[in-house]
Amino acid sequence: MNSSEFDGLVAIVTGGASGIGAAVADRLRAGGARVAVLDLNASGTSHFGVECNVADDASVRSAVESVTARFSRLDIVVNNAGIGAIGDVAANDDDEWARVLDINVVGVARVTRAALPHLRQSPSAAIVNTCSIAATAGLQQRALYSASKGAILSLTLAMAADHIREGIRINCVNPGTVDTPWVARLLSSSADPEAERAALNARQPHGRLVAAEEVAEAVAYLASPRSGSTSGTALAVDGGMQGLRLRPP
Ligand code: NAD
Repeated sequence: MNSSEFDGLVAIVTGGASGIGAAVADRLRAGGARVAVLDLNASGTSHFGVECNVADDASVRSAVESVTARFSRLDIVVNNAGIGAIGDVAANDDDEWARVLDINVVGVARVTRAALPHLRQSPSAAIVNTCSIAATAGLQQRALYSASKGAILSLTLAMAADHIREGIRINCVNPGTVDTPWVARLLSSSADPEAERAALNARQPHGRLVAAEEVAEAVAYLASPRSGSTSGTALAVDGGMQGLRLRPP
């Protein structure tokens, strides 16, 4: 890692109080960035924490304003806040579909909309969206969640096309199953969490869950000038899951 690659730059990480977002916030700070965490529960973060609900436009606009008021600039936005949904296409009613899509998809648009005027002023602007292998893998019992992540993938490509001429690079990461509090919550609801964790590890092509720090490393790459000619891509961090799917054993 180059400890000065983000020197002088300011980053927003949504959902940065936990899991992947927390690892991303720490990684960007380790690279020299000043980091603002926008989260429903920002009180415990060691970064500049701003309480924010990405499903509420006024909350998003006010949070982005607090960041630019504090740091006078904005260079990097990591749209990472998201929630899960379990079940097949019939498992969730219209209200739940609207709620999940509003947070996971419209949330990305809201934060980006508020950030764009500031990013246009930055000489090294980058947006990285946390998408998922669910966008492309055809996962079972994840219909609504997969639809939301598929939309984020398409939105990433469209935003990249719209804003590359303004000097803003936009990419996403597609994590596999990552060892975060989210996955711990899912495991703890099973009858035997330890056995379930072992089974989950065994289901990964490389035999273990992905570490949040590994996703953070990919985000840092896409946020940094090291990827200066890369925009409109999805970087898989999934232990080889995507490759396996394309070429079944
Ligand atoms: P997590 O539950 O550990 O953290 C999510 C964070 O987002 C929390 O701090 C939460 O407070 C915040 N958040 C939730 N709703 C919000 C809202 N409306 N406004 C602002 N903040 C909100 O989850 P995680 O596993 O770190 O997941 C983070 C992202 O990574 C999500 O977008 C998720 O879809 C994606 N992802 C996770 C995995 C995985 O296996 N854990 C895999 C692929 C993609």
